[in-house]
Amino acid sequence: MKRENFPILNELVHGQKLVYLDNAATTQKPQLLIDAIAKAYSHWNANVHRGVHHLSQVATQKHEEARQKVAKLIHAQSEEEIIFTKGTTDSINMLARSFGDAMVGEGDEIIVSQLEHHSNIVPWQMLCERKKAVLKVIPLQEDLSLNIEAFKEILNEKTRLVSVAHVSNVLGVVNPIEDIIRLAHEKGVAVCVDGAQSVPHLAVDVQKLDCDFLVFSAHKMYGPTGLGILYGKKEWLDKLPPTEGGGEMIEHVSFEKTTYNVLPYKFEAGTPNYIGSYAFGKVIDFVQEVGLEQIAEHEHKLAKYLEAQLALLPNVRVYAAGLPKAGAVSFNVYREDEALIHPFDVGVLLDRQGIAVRTGHHCAEPLLDYLQVPGTVRASVAIYNTIEDIDAFVVALKKAIMMLQ
Ligand code: PMP
Repeated sequence: MKRENFPILNELVHGQKLVYLDNAATTQKPQLLIDAIAKAYSHWNANVHRGVHHLSQVATQKHEEARQKVAKLIHAQSEEEIIFTKGTTDSINMLARSFGDAMVGEGDEIIVSQLEHHSNIVPWQMLCERKKAVLKVIPLQEDLSLNIEAFKEILNEKTRLVSVAHVSNVLGVVNPIEDIIRLAHEKGVAVCVDGAQSVPHLAVDVQKLDCDFLVFSAHKMYGPTGLGILYGKKEWLDKLPPTEGGGEMIEHVSFEKTTYNVLPYKFEAGTPNYIGSYAFGKVIDFVQEVGLEQIAEHEHKLAKYLEAQLALLPNVRVYAAGLPKAGAVSFNVYREDEALIHPFDVGVLLDRQGIAVRTGHHCAEPLLDYLQVPGTVRASVAIYNTIEDIDAFVVALKKAIMMLQ
């Protein structure tokens, strides 16, 4: 689907046709994104929001149109709720600072889960250290789904925020985020959804989910690097403090007192990545044209086929087998004597055959500790992958397994 729109997919790797299955790390870029960036720098580059001259006004208009496109994509109530950041990591750090400064005190609790990306652990840990608060963890069940009964038990009157991935970047599992949000709200607790692995693969509607915050990265959705989103409900963003000071985020500055700008600019200090936002807007148009429901269906079919093919291989162990997934499948390969073959070895042999997968801890060490392995091999799909890609991957994997036995 739309493979011809992504020029890098024509590259040869080690003389082989590239089969790119590392989409959970970053996706490849369509020609329209590359063209949009070249066009922006060639025709209307100027700093936004501050100029009365023509180019600055064009740049500002395009940047703000992109914000509206993001708001539409995730069904935010208004574009004031869309803050441009550098990426998911930046968004979570910003939230941990802002929410943490305003809402968290000594003895308060923040809840994350066992399967989070480091980006959704460390900023909260740092907050807890600053504020003498406590980080609580939703454990996993044997099938690697989140233990919702245990979540109910750790959720209490001291909980200030729950921050959980919608889709696990390691396992590809879609977490029951609606239940988590409902249970947290029943106790008056706010929820941040890490949508880094869900927004590119599923139709996400923040109003239907009723999440308080949602974070994601443009680069995992065919967009540019260095651009991310922090969505927050207006009532939250109105009351939370900015985390960075500088140009753009102010209303008036004097040495006696500075007042802050309106939303969303209060949270956007300095020159934003307006070329990136414009280009991402173009990508959003493209994604909407294809349709997120269609994308989800296509990727689901590929991931299911991939999992079924892996299940046929006797020495391969798939994690979270059978659970609902979006886009990614993780596995390990074992020798006849049950010894783990290091995922790096599998990854290197796949690479020599032109297959790009991710190996290692995927920035989720607590999950890997729980699984008691140093890493996994993760194959993750996107809009441009095909059944032929999966077949090529399986043939290459069989060869790798034979060589490593
Ligand atoms: N959370 C999840 C679930 C992710 O998959 C990732 C990226 N692997 C991140 C957070 C961090 O995203 P970024 O590196 O774009 O800030």
